Amino acid sequence: MRQAGRIIAKTMREVSEAMEAGKHSLLNLDSMAEKIILAEGGIPSFKGYKGFPATACIAVNDGVVHGIPTDYIIQKGDIVTLDFGVIWQGWHADSAWTFAVGEIAQNAQRLMNVTKESLYQGIGKAKAGNKVGDISFAVQNYVERNGYSIVRDLVGHGIGQNLHEEPSVPNFGKARKGVPLRAGMTFCIEPMVNEGTYRVKTLSDGWTVVTADGKLSAHYEHTVVVTSDGPLILTSEED
Ligand code: MG
Ligand code: MG
Repeated sequence: MRQAGRIIAKTMREVSEAMEAGKHSLLNLDSMAEKIILAEGGIPSFKGYKGFPATACIAVNDGVVHGIPTDYIIQKGDIVTLDFGVIWQGWHADSAWTFAVGEIAQNAQRLMNVTKESLYQGIGKAKAGNKVGDISFAVQNYVERNGYSIVRDLVGHGIGQNLHEEPSVPNFGKARKGVPLRAGMTFCIEPMVNEGTYRVKTLSDGWTVVTADGKLSAHYEHTVVVTSDGPLILTSEED
């Protein structure tokens, strides 16, 4: 899972470096990601998952998750989320990151900052002896304190030899409740944060989830393992 996570982090960095305004379509970014993953010896885990047609879910602006890459060419001011998983020798990792294309509006930047920090607030609670609800509460509390809303319809998840395993890791809930955390547990923490309402809707392609009110959404995700020394992020290039 560590190796799967390294491949994801490297792919995330290289594709994001190519995200110049007016240069690439979402389909281009997707095929870039696929090439890098395969060259590193990984398998893109989303492709074919329940029929999903691409390597990466790509969500632009009001896109929340599960966006099918299209021929849309990214523009200055867009915020673009790449979300993908990799299998390495049977073991999975999964990560998502929102990137700015060129100069973006202040409200978009603030949404990204708060969403990213809410992920780290959640990761900080991924300790043996805590419960899943401690993560959920930390994320929700940070997001709502900053005036944003947390998506309810989609949640984080356990991960290992499958992309989605028990337990669910909601981004909202009560501290001290839920599944107890033990050393060795691996899961994805992935706050999806909306500027306006937490409500979302699915487009007619059956996959792409967008905000119900058309306002912006951001999404950050790491695969994390609980160790006896605290949380360790697996989807990172650094050791
Ligand atoms: Mg995930
Ligand atoms: Mg993901």
